[in-house]
Amino acid sequence: MNQEFDNDESLIESFVRRLSAKYDRRYWLECAKKGQPLDALWQELGKAGFLGAMAPEEYGGSGVSLTRLALLMEQLANNGMPPLMLVVSMMGAVAIAKHGTEEQKRRYLPRLADGSERFCFAITEPDAGSNSFRIRSLARRDGDEYVLNGQKVFISGVDQAEHMLVVARTIAADAAADKREGMSLFVVDTNAAGLTAHRMDTQILMPEGQFQLFFDDVRVPRENLVGKEGKAMHAMFDALNPERITAAAMGVGIGRYALSKAVEYARTRKVFNTPIGAHQGLAHPMAIAKTELELASLMAHRAAEMFDAGGDAGMYANMAKYAAGEAAVKSVDLAIQVHGGSGFMGETDVITLWPLARLMRTAPVSREMILNYIGEHVLGLPRSY
Ligand SMILES: Cc1cc2nc3c(=O)[nH]c(=O)nc-3n(C[C@H](O)[C@H](O)[C@H](O)COP(=O)(O)OP(=O)(O)OC[C@H]3O[C@@H](n4cnc5c(N)ncnc54)[C@H](O)[C@@H]3O)c2cc1C
Repeated sequence: MNQEFDNDESLIESFVRRLSAKYDRRYWLECAKKGQPLDALWQELGKAGFLGAMAPEEYGGSGVSLTRLALLMEQLANNGMPPLMLVVSMMGAVAIAKHGTEEQKRRYLPRLADGSERFCFAITEPDAGSNSFRIRSLARRDGDEYVLNGQKVFISGVDQAEHMLVVARTIAADAAADKREGMSLFVVDTNAAGLTAHRMDTQILMPEGQFQLFFDDVRVPRENLVGKEGKAMHAMFDALNPERITAAAMGVGIGRYALSKAVEYARTRKVFNTPIGAHQGLAHPMAIAKTELELASLMAHRAAEMFDAGGDAGMYANMAKYAAGEAAVKSVDLAIQVHGGSGFMGETDVITLWPLARLMRTAPVSREMILNYIGEHVLGLPRSY
């Protein structure tokens, strides 16, 4: 158990304050502009135990809870340096810790925990989109191996990760009696023979790029299957709530960072007799943005606590992700407005946040698919699709 971060969230705050003296927004922006990984920051997070949050202690895990991990993400993003890789790599740890074999746990978890290896997560395909069950990537058994063919799009951090958790079908969608059957999960080396990765032209300033992937007869050893063949649905869903919760924490932090810049500017900028922040036309939207960010933060904490307690975090995780995405978009838009024309200057560093904040409405799950979940699973409404 990592005692240092077990009890007090202010300890995480001071840890991030100490960290950001060395690795600040400027460091993050430099890595983002060059498309480079946040390696030095990553190693520090590993040393402090945050990368081992989802791994049991006997496999090098730290015992840091998801609640603490989400707080860490929130604090890093509050300071303008959110690591998306923390969200995607953690999903590998969750799936392997819960569904992996003993050998997989020993092989991957300690290195994920100490920061020497990273995972990315590949599910999205061009034709299937939000309808993940319709993916076409197919893994065919051939002796002690699977032969993987298909393609993926928008996969983040492929160039930074040693391994990729790939969702593929072992029964084609139209041959499965039930669409949930035949989904399988594999650990694939990012430099496996037959796998090619092309950087996509996503216009988002962040250290993690997106990649289109082609799997052309990629041979995956049978021991890399995570969980049971054709039964990956549970492993996938187990990783989705922590993904949504940490993404929500990231959205809250991005919004807070933007809002803090807006407030600072509004307190000092005078164009008539008073600082612009005295005008309620700006002050009230800022007060509303602050309120909505704090509400989203509370919901993310609630979701993380529910996950840590072993309960069903689905409703809270989805609501947190929705609320954080909306609050981040509003806050960054407002920060641009408060800065007037300066809001469009790179040096002001608010327009730079817009694509990333806007992404929070689309990925890792779109606001519409979240609302579909709440409509169907929380309110019990019939589904349209
Ligand atoms: C920067 C970035 C990083 C990403 N990283 C990863 C990653 O690491 N790994 C990965 O696997 N994927 C990743 N993704 C993919 C991301 O999860 C998807 O883009 C997202 O889930 C939406 O899927 P789509 O793009 O296919 O849109 P579509 O599914 O085509 O949807 C288009 C629009 O239609 C709406 N829509 C679709 N169906 C319905 C419905 N039933 N009801 C109402 N509205 C609907 C959607 O909400 C959306 O607004 C990333 C995407 C981006 C942009």
